[in-house]
Amino acid sequence: MPDYQSLLRELPAVDRLLREPLLEELQQRLPRRIVLQAAQDTIALYRKKITAFSEEGDHRQIIDLSLTLLAQEAAALAEKSAALNLKPLINATGVIIHTNLGRAPLARSAADALVAVARNYSNLELSLDSGRRGSRQEHIEDLLCELSGSEAAVVVNNNAAAVFLALNTVAFGREVIVSRGQLVEIGGSFRIPDIMTASGARLVEIGTTNKTYLRDYEAVVTENSAAFLKVHTSNYHMVGFTAEVSTPDLAGLAHKNNLLLIEDLGSGVFLDLEKYNLPPEPRVQDSIAAGADLVTFSGDKMLGGPQAGIIVGRKDLISYIRSNQLARTLRIDKFTLAALESTLRLFLDEETAIREIPVWRMLTASSESLHSRAKNLATRFAEIFGAEKVDVIPGISRVGGGALPMAELSTYLVAVRLTAEDGGPELFVEKLRHGNPPVILRLQQDSLLFDPRTIFEDQEDVLIERVLFCAKDS
Ligand SMILES: *Cc1c(COP(=O)(O)O)cnc(C)c1O
Repeated sequence: MPDYQSLLRELPAVDRLLREPLLEELQQRLPRRIVLQAAQDTIALYRKKITAFSEEGDHRQIIDLSLTLLAQEAAALAEKSAALNLKPLINATGVIIHTNLGRAPLARSAADALVAVARNYSNLELSLDSGRRGSRQEHIEDLLCELSGSEAAVVVNNNAAAVFLALNTVAFGREVIVSRGQLVEIGGSFRIPDIMTASGARLVEIGTTNKTYLRDYEAVVTENSAAFLKVHTSNYHMVGFTAEVSTPDLAGLAHKNNLLLIEDLGSGVFLDLEKYNLPPEPRVQDSIAAGADLVTFSGDKMLGGPQAGIIVGRKDLISYIRSNQLARTLRIDKFTLAALESTLRLFLDEETAIREIPVWRMLTASSESLHSRAKNLATRFAEIFGAEKVDVIPGISRVGGGALPMAELSTYLVAVRLTAEDGGPELFVEKLRHGNPPVILRLQQDSLLFDPRTIFEDQEDVLIERVLFCAKDS
């Protein structure tokens, strides 16, 4: 009889494994079904191992079937499957608004406001002044008007929804004129032409990819035209022989022809970026001042708040948008509202916004502070890997999230060179990603790159711990 048969017989029954102290204890803390599943999976895994080994002869001595070991493996499996799938992590990539990593981390006050509203009843749709039913939109409309200079505002689920709802409300069954250079795709699933079709507006493309003039707009206006749509080409940049019509010129032509100007700004910036040596970006208040009738932008890009789509503009139009039946399907929830109100309040004072909103703190981090943080991290990494493997090098951070694609923010990176003896850099990156909290970073040739710009200062100790753990493990 081949030896593996006896090995298979040695495998414990599930019930026996579950009676191991470690797993009994775990069943007090975790749902029994999770521990049971983990025990079954562990036994199944070992059965597979034994069968695989059997094909290569007798490997009895290398398969340890002790109950303690099996219980440990089952416990680890159970812990893993009981953990939340969606969890916080450390972003060491230097990409500030990383769409895969949840875009903007909230300011502390915004997160606190969200939790307070989540754990309690709130005046979401109750006017505390009159005691009557109120609108959830009222909590932020005044703030948005003050910051943008607009007459009215409404907030929906995200900016894609904002563009869709604006078009559906003011241009259903009518023509909307867009420059070919602005028919962009953002993040794979949001394409301006598709959103327009879905909204019921008819797209009229004008100009060429690289050049569109005011006369191109003028030439296609008919009595069926409803609006001009100007789209910020957030995530790509055209250089060379290009022309685009400015918002004031476009607003002038729109109004002369009784049309509306809708502007999709994408990012939603209230502060002057040039003041911080960043490439200029159109501000919401500039578009309103230039005469745009409706302006839309995201809550979780450069605004640094929660996912939301904000529409500011003319009072009558905003009021039509609110009464559109579809507005309900794109409605903003109370958690988002709480976080958004709190974030917007921070913008009432520029210094506070820069200090408190993580996206702005990271955007404006000084070279000196990044250098000193990189040096500190490097010193601590040197204790783990040896000084000869660790360097501080100049590098580039990115804004990300389809914002400021050309901006190169100089930073200092901590580079850790790993050789095959250390298990290789790819394996290390994987281990860091699988840890708790996961650490996400860049890899360049044989070096791990850590950018202090997107690592919060209060995450540094945990980061060191994670790196130390992975280094010991290899
Ligand atoms: C990002 C972006 C959108 C989509 O915004 P979401 O909030 O992600 O839905 C739409 N238009 C432009 C120009 C953008 O940059």
